Amino acid sequence: RLLVCVGKRLVAAVRPEDTVARFGGDGFVIVCEDTDEARAQELAGQMAAALAEPFDLDGQRVHVRASIGIAVSPPHSAPDLVRFAEAAMYDAKARGRNRVQVFNAALAEESADRLALTNDLRDALARDELVLHYQPLMNLRTGDLLGVEALARWHHPTRGPVSPAKFVAVAEATGLAAALGRWALDRVSRDVAVLRTAMPRGLHVAVNISAAHLSDPGLEDAVLSALQAGRMSADELVLEVTESTMMDNLDHARAVLERLREHGVHSAIDDFGTGYSSLGYLKRLPVSTVKIDRSFIENITEDADALAITSSVVRLAGAMGLTTVAEGVERPEQLAVLRELGCTAAQGFLFSPAVAPATLAEIVKNLPKQHFGAQLAG
Ligand code: C2E
Ligand code: CA
Ligand code: CA
Repeated sequence: RLLVCVGKRLVAAVRPEDTVARFGGDGFVIVCEDTDEARAQELAGQMAAALAEPFDLDGQRVHVRASIGIAVSPPHSAPDLVRFAEAAMYDAKARGRNRVQVFNAALAEESADRLALTNDLRDALARDELVLHYQPLMNLRTGDLLGVEALARWHHPTRGPVSPAKFVAVAEATGLAAALGRWALDRVSRDVAVLRTAMPRGLHVAVNISAAHLSDPGLEDAVLSALQAGRMSADELVLEVTESTMMDNLDHARAVLERLREHGVHSAIDDFGTGYSSLGYLKRLPVSTVKIDRSFIENITEDADALAITSSVVRLAGAMGLTTVAEGVERPEQLAVLRELGCTAAQGFLFSPAVAPATLAEIVKNLPKQHFGAQLAG
């Protein structure tokens, strides 16, 4: 309903001869013929002004913000025009709220680069050229290894290592996210034998699932075949879904995760605290683990708000019987606070970065001694 209201306001803000279309998600495309860059800027200003007033949805006031990208043709072809406007829009979005950005030479280069990277990623997935590294999650009560999180690593033949933040974003923007997810599940199933040597007392592997993979009708099958291929029991695999992915499509996320839970596969809500949900939602989601975002853990020893938020998440999630995991623990002081709060588990550079499966066993062997020592006595 909000999107319908936004569409109406956009139609009212542009000229009668302009075309307003929704391209999917929360993205709109406005085609303005016989318009130069200055006039396009003016129209963008009008649109932004039209969206600045809050919307009234049954008495609930809702504020939206728009990021606007502009591309002008000539010289661009029609398909490029949409792609370039989108590139400008992403740039506007990255700069902060309510921005307008005109497509320029720097963005053109970036856009071409992204296209090349997309093609390379598609090939790399097909040729199985990525690898998974595994980061330990430590049980804070016992000092034991609780499990590992699988994180994708891509060493590009000419660019060298490409950061996951970059190629995951590329995958998500270009329809490759489900392919990446399928590859990761399959790769885990092939790494299992080696992982078991590091986790003789119970394998627990978490795999990150993107929004597009969550809405892929083949997800359930992909999960079940990975379990079978790796001879894993369902409770050895955890799916991590970010809070914002869940919130963007709450009913669907709930349905998919509930079906998987019926098979015995658990899920975790990732980056908790960065989306728009509240603690109240935890009850409504079929997840068994809450991963508290690194941005809170980062400041937990000096920022009272970060500490208060972490403390209430740990308390409430704990009361609901959920496991709490603190992400990005780098310093012993953070570890001390988290143990004090009763957080179930932690992961971070303090213990180990994500490492190749073959190195995991060696790393894990020394972890508890290093960081918990005598504190665990009794
Ligand atoms: P994430 O799921 O929140 O993963 C945690 C990220 O934090 C990882 O970055 C990890 O290396 C990093 N990290 C762990 N401990 C620390 C710490 O103590 N300090 C700091 N500063 N960072 C720490 P990475 O591997 O670069 O991955 C970034 C994001 O890319 C992940 O965030 C995840 O959203 C995505 N990603 C990675 N692999 C995959 C994948 O196979 N599939 C999907 N869909 N997404 C993936
Ligand atoms: Ca994760
Ligand atoms: Ca995370």
